[in-house]
Amino acid sequence: MCTDCGCSATTLQIERIDPPGTRAPITPLLKTHHHAHVHADDHTPATGQIDQLEHALLQRNDAEADSNRRWFQRLNVLALNLLSSPGAGKTTLLEKTLLALQGERPLAVIEGDQATARDADRIAATGVKVVQVNTGTGCHLDASMIHRAAHQLEPLEDHLLLIENVGNLVCPALFDLGEHKKVVLLSVTEGDDKPLKYPHMFQATDLLLITKVDLLPYVDFDVERCLAVARQLNPQVESLQLSARSGAGMDAWLEWIRQQRR
Ligand code: MG
Repeated sequence: MCTDCGCSATTLQIERIDPPGTRAPITPLLKTHHHAHVHADDHTPATGQIDQLEHALLQRNDAEADSNRRWFQRLNVLALNLLSSPGAGKTTLLEKTLLALQGERPLAVIEGDQATARDADRIAATGVKVVQVNTGTGCHLDASMIHRAAHQLEPLEDHLLLIENVGNLVCPALFDLGEHKKVVLLSVTEGDDKPLKYPHMFQATDLLLITKVDLLPYVDFDVERCLAVARQLNPQVESLQLSARSGAGMDAWLEWIRQQRR
């Protein structure tokens, strides 16, 4: 996985995005180049070496995630990690969620994408503070990126911290960020077979959100078949169906978030 997909050979950029009209000139606040990856022009490592690299990478991430979790607990921060393939509606759901929850609790967002600050610009337009993490060739957020990005959002006491992971149903499943809950979005335009094809993501999640249900009349997406497979993989998984566009199901989603605070 991530030792040979190129994601640790990244030029990482983490940047706080201010609301429109108040933007400072863009200067990269942080750039790193890791060398934990295997270069194509290096010697070809044996499978055992790759396994060891993967194991060490994930172990280090797990330790950093635990440290994030303790930090968030001390600050009474509730952190949710939103995961999906690209285009499932994470950013649109975030926009609507932030507008609905404003005034209930302080809010902050970390946006993960390989490139651009387009999503962070959309979040900043709601007035909520946001940091954009650009992972370069990287395919997921990891715990150390969250640690550094969260520091740029301080003060964080009592916040709801919403993390939009890089759009990808594979690698992000492996990387604990120190979040309290994982939320996987699956839009009805993607097909109901995704839990079968990407079981790790659906096994890892706490909540499965079936999104864009306003489009159900136009697609062959069998909600019950999808949920049956998801529950086979993950008997504890909760599920909700919604459309951020039409507003259907949004109340139940907002109530789910409120319940996580208690
Ligand atoms: Mg997005």
